[in-house]
Amino acid sequence: TIPNSTSTSSKVRVIVRARPFLSQEIAAKNGNSICCISVLDRGSLSCNEEVAVYLKDPDTIRSECYQLDSFFGQEDESVSKIFYSEVNPLIPGIFHGRNATVFAYGATGSGKTYTMQGSEERPGLMPLAMSKILSICQSTGSTAEISYYEVYMDRCYDLLEVKTKEISILDDKDGQLHLKGLSRVPVNSMTEFQEIFSRGIQRRKVAHTGLNDVSSRSHGVLVISVSTLLGDDSKAALTGKLNLIDLAGNEDNRRTCNEGIRLLESAKINQSLFALSNVIHALNNNKPRVPYRESKLTRILQDSLGGTSHALMVACLNPGEYQESVHTVSLAARSRHI
Ligand code: ADP
Ligand code: MG
Repeated sequence: TIPNSTSTSSKVRVIVRARPFLSQEIAAKNGNSICCISVLDRGSLSCNEEVAVYLKDPDTIRSECYQLDSFFGQEDESVSKIFYSEVNPLIPGIFHGRNATVFAYGATGSGKTYTMQGSEERPGLMPLAMSKILSICQSTGSTAEISYYEVYMDRCYDLLEVKTKEISILDDKDGQLHLKGLSRVPVNSMTEFQEIFSRGIQRRKVAHTGLNDVSSRSHGVLVISVSTLLGDDSKAALTGKLNLIDLAGNEDNRRTCNEGIRLLESAKINQSLFALSNVIHALNNNKPRVPYRESKLTRILQDSLGGTSHALMVACLNPGEYQESVHTVSLAARSRHI
């Protein structure tokens, strides 16, 4: 049986995840690493579940406060906690033909890839979602397929093809979105998923420049599509999809001193993240016009953000980086707020 899907609001939830200090960071500061993040749980004060996140500059007395939907702290299991409380509730809708999107947003080094991809020992939201979807498929007879592509310099490239292939975006006349030529690979087990996905991850690491780890300069999009037969005589099927996105690192160019191609990449990244923030802001504030067409990143999400779709933005923070955290959380809070 298909699980019931209860949630109805199409708002985009915006939550924060702070990673712990890494052992080398603790060693570098002789154990005196100062965390710039503290949280006041509004849930304990009133009925709403908002949190207030405080960012404090350890060098000055400056501090900033932002309202967000939820906060996940520095303990090891925070990714599985995010999965169970924030992502798992989006999954039944996929089996009812709806779309959903989960993004990890934040500076390079803030834990986006850890949160989305994870590792073999600590799976991230991508494998956790795949595993849950496969287990529901087994009981419903639904089928799952994956696509994996990246958006780099405002162009989309398939990561499941042996050769780098550019994908074009088409809207057909009924407003449906098509990623022309994007491969879709059936997945029946986690072993199959790990094999296909890890090849895609390797491809993302060396794409475009041949240099290692340029992956933080592109948005990596894993799409899990589910097809569920309606069970009547028509052989018709409902299809829904979950987009899981490891966004490119947002950077403050005034601080990173980027030049040349790096500056250009970074400008494209910041443009697309700003466009994303504008779309979420428009949706969360019931604006009549949602500016999807301002970047490729928002165009590819046109059918999976807003409408009957649910979405979650996970703003990732490095506890030792005050300025960077302000940059991330202010955009996240701005996306959410009126
Ligand atoms: P990003 O993708 O945002 O650039 P990463 O996911 O690569 O950042 O994380 C940066 C570093 O922090 C990596 O070494 C990663 O393993 C580590 N890290 C992130 N989150 C955690 C966590 N919850 N526990 C332990 N290490 C973490
Ligand atoms: Mg990364």
